[in-house]
Amino acid sequence: MNNPQEQILELRKELRDHNYNYYVLDNATISDFEFDKKLKHLQDLEEKHPEFFDSNSPTQRVGGEVTKNFETVPHEHRMYSLDNSYSKEDLQDWETRIKKLVDGDIQYTCELKYDGASISLTYENGTLVKAVTRGDGFQGDNVTTNIKTIKSVPLQLKGDYPSKFDIRGEIVLPFDGFNKMNEARIEIGEEPYRNPRNTASGSLKLQDSTEVAKRPLECLLYNLTGANIKISTQFESLEKARQWGFKVPNAAKLANSIDEVLEFVDYWNIHRHDLPYETDGIVIKVNNLQQQEELGYTAKAPRWAMAYKFKAEQVSTKLNSITYQVGRTGAITPVANLAPVELAGTTVKRASLHNADQIEKLDIRVGDEVFVEKGGEIIPKIIAVDLSKRELDSVKTEYITQCPECETELIRQEGEAQHYCPNYNGCNPQIIGRIQHFISRKAMDIDGLGGETVALLVNEGLIFNYSDLYELTKEHVIPLERMAEKSADNLINGISNSVNIPFERVLFALGIRFVGETVAKKLAKHYKSIDAIANATEDDLVGVNEIGVKIAESVTAFFASEKNLYIINRLKQFGVQLEISAEELKGQTEILKGDIIVVTGVFEYVSRNELKKLIENNGGKVSSSISSKTSYIVAGNNMGPSKKQKAEQLSISLISENEFLQKIK
Ligand code: AMP
Ligand code: ZN
Repeated sequence: MNNPQEQILELRKELRDHNYNYYVLDNATISDFEFDKKLKHLQDLEEKHPEFFDSNSPTQRVGGEVTKNFETVPHEHRMYSLDNSYSKEDLQDWETRIKKLVDGDIQYTCELKYDGASISLTYENGTLVKAVTRGDGFQGDNVTTNIKTIKSVPLQLKGDYPSKFDIRGEIVLPFDGFNKMNEARIEIGEEPYRNPRNTASGSLKLQDSTEVAKRPLECLLYNLTGANIKISTQFESLEKARQWGFKVPNAAKLANSIDEVLEFVDYWNIHRHDLPYETDGIVIKVNNLQQQEELGYTAKAPRWAMAYKFKAEQVSTKLNSITYQVGRTGAITPVANLAPVELAGTTVKRASLHNADQIEKLDIRVGDEVFVEKGGEIIPKIIAVDLSKRELDSVKTEYITQCPECETELIRQEGEAQHYCPNYNGCNPQIIGRIQHFISRKAMDIDGLGGETVALLVNEGLIFNYSDLYELTKEHVIPLERMAEKSADNLINGISNSVNIPFERVLFALGIRFVGETVAKKLAKHYKSIDAIANATEDDLVGVNEIGVKIAESVTAFFASEKNLYIINRLKQFGVQLEISAEELKGQTEILKGDIIVVTGVFEYVSRNELKKLIENNGGKVSSSISSKTSYIVAGNNMGPSKKQKAEQLSISLISENEFLQKIK
């Protein structure tokens, strides 16, 4: 039998390889299930043997550290910007300039220009020691804890890597993941993110690295700096980086002339639309590193490199009408209906106008000729109105004041961009949307019932809210369009089976604004029943770990409605789970009720996360920072000096891991 250390090292290596195959080579070599099993095994072993802790273990990818203020650190090698070019002439001018400065033929490496947030990674002896944002080029923010959660960033290199070097790259958010994130946001009534680039760069500065770990970010690398080894060309350095385990896209190509560079440009100007992430151009670099050195830098950019920006594809077309959509939460979205036009390989008929401010800003009017652009965003966007073509009799767009579906007066809350229809219980798209959310996979997961059938049931007057689902019979649904005997059975069965769905998912299914899956889990765990949540005040709610004012307000508003209480009561009567089951309650006590506890340091018997779980399961609250409200601190080994000082200042007592475990025994 292997000793634990060998087992740990073996598992780490195995998981690292799988990670590499999956996230760098896009080639899975193990099922998710198997991977999770091995990861769990490693976690368990590491918890039992803290002496083998390694900050670069694959278990560290899930995040956990919270950073309030990122430390600003200098770049050892400055991060320059790039000069831009937009035409063949620009590129020829550049070549003429550099040919005067270096001898011999010039060969170029052509690379894609990834549109994300730039990052500089420092490796020492094959391990990642630091990740810093570009900042102003001289100094940036140390975001190492967040970067470590990105699976395509190798924590441990392989092969013949140099002992110390920096490598630069771009953190991007591929379209797929971006869209999924937005679906989840829309689901809880949040406004979707506008584009992948800003979302990627925003992600690097999130305080909670666990949140970063959940985002499907990728790191693409393109530049090696300060590596003291015999590499003579840029192209070779890309190949080397790839061998050491970095994700370096394969698109890079060598060109022997500006004409060949232009072939690369032309190819990618079209094929970039097939890439999984955003690119805004290409970067051309003098291939020979000796020549690069001779060329040097201007005040802001290398002379040996040049960006070529793709023109965002733009067309002009006519705005036929503006219509308004009502979402599940009542949010109104104005939509531009356009005369169909070809753009970047698709026919565009509609574009989002976002909100009233956007319409005002563009001063867009029905009948206008407008410029439509497809940039990074998936949905085309209206850039401007062609005022030279505006009809003399055009009328300024008046934003609607009433809901297009139910004619209720719209409201717009202070500080919000969106108008809302407040007719929560009587506005059809809201009713339908809410029931569709209720039955969805992550909520009540009702088999045999689809979104369209829900719309049909509402429009036929068979149901008015989600509790009505439980009163449907086969006789009700059989007459519906396209409803066969078998599907009617499935539908009714699916509904009655859903009474077994656990409370936390029912809570999510209710569709309370801002209560997504995670928040629902927290509330369910903390309050244990719907009645307790309904009786909680805003203050109570804000006292729950990670529940903010916005969520608290939304929750109390939901339960202040008689109608909602009535619907919930009906759900209760039909047997839907509105409290935590006895099974889930097992192992939970109130021993620590009222205690606000800070956990710090390294522990011997349980992991920090386990400790937090123990506190919550025994009725206590975990707080991340020491304040006068802290009841006591559970201190492990290596408690930070600033925390120690703070605790002394506020005379807050420390207890050891052992004392704590005794307490809850
Ligand atoms: P700009 O922000 O327009 O000045 O462009 C410079 C930025 O392009 C750099 O700071 C990098 O973050 C980014 N970039 C993206 N892809 C590449 C690449 N292949 N080579 C160099 N820089 C790149
Ligand atoms: Zn309405």
